[in-house]
Amino acid sequence: MRKGKGVLVLLLCAALVLTAYLAGREEREGGATAPQPVSPEIPLSVPERPYNPASSEVLRVWLDGGLKEVELEKYLPQVLAGEMPVLFHPEALRAQAVAARSYLLCKRNHGCKSHPGADVCGDPSCCTAYCTEAALQERWGQDYEANMEKLRAAVNDTAGEYLVYEGEIIQAVFHSSSVSQTEDSANVWNPLPYLVSVDSPETEEDVPNYITEITLSAQALCEAVLSAYPSADFSEEAESWIGELRNTESGRVQDVMIGGVRITGTEARRLFGLRSTGFTVAYTGDGFLFRVTGYGHGVGMSQYGANVMAKEGASYSEILMHYYPNTELVSL
Ligand SMILES: [Zn+2]
Repeated sequence: MRKGKGVLVLLLCAALVLTAYLAGREEREGGATAPQPVSPEIPLSVPERPYNPASSEVLRVWLDGGLKEVELEKYLPQVLAGEMPVLFHPEALRAQAVAARSYLLCKRNHGCKSHPGADVCGDPSCCTAYCTEAALQERWGQDYEANMEKLRAAVNDTAGEYLVYEGEIIQAVFHSSSVSQTEDSANVWNPLPYLVSVDSPETEEDVPNYITEITLSAQALCEAVLSAYPSADFSEEAESWIGELRNTESGRVQDVMIGGVRITGTEARRLFGLRSTGFTVAYTGDGFLFRVTGYGHGVGMSQYGANVMAKEGASYSEILMHYYPNTELVSL
């Protein structure tokens, strides 16, 4: 074997949906998509169907409105196409192939939540992204065959390889880009010994739209907070609404006081449609300016960070061992 996620309220909701849509489109067109997190309630348990890499693994996949049986290794290239830009370094693509294989196998052991009976689905907000051949032919045109060959190579070069922690397949979550460190899973879901904060090398020079700014009117901010925290108090001047902001060790927002209620960084990200929890917020007189760094939940492998490491000479296994410390790369 070779190595290898009233009217004002409606308007606000519409704005947030649009923001999320635009962010998603932008990522699909120019950067790496980030999967939704593995559900926090997934326990660390003995897999119900232990992975036997000696057999050709078949996944029950929910695709195009129906259940299909697909060989994992044949499914993976089109997952990669949806999860990482094909122009990334081959070692980054190999690292992504192993991470996606591990993620899918871990998911398989618990089943797709949206589609009972399926191991996984092609919806990135549920399992992992998946691109159909037709969609890729339209996206890539003349480059279709060459690009697919590059993705198939990343899968073949790492055939059967996946990550384990103490013998169990890991929840190999990943995200598009980090602040200078990845986030500890404990600050987003639950703590896991291999999803701890590590350095990540990407900068503004490596990542499109690495730093983004979004301004919310006082009314919009107020409505967003009240939708989730009806007890919040916005009776004082807007300039006094933002209180203490505490950061996690990785530099992201742990929590922030808004209108007298303490809101976690993860919840603020959701409420205000921010690309990550790596943000600052200030009242400008015209509204609240959020300055956001990176994209995604920040846990596990940073895709842009992996690409920087690869360009600097790291192998896919070195990238994986960096972003998923304490794990083992297992192969036949
Ligand atoms: Zn699913």
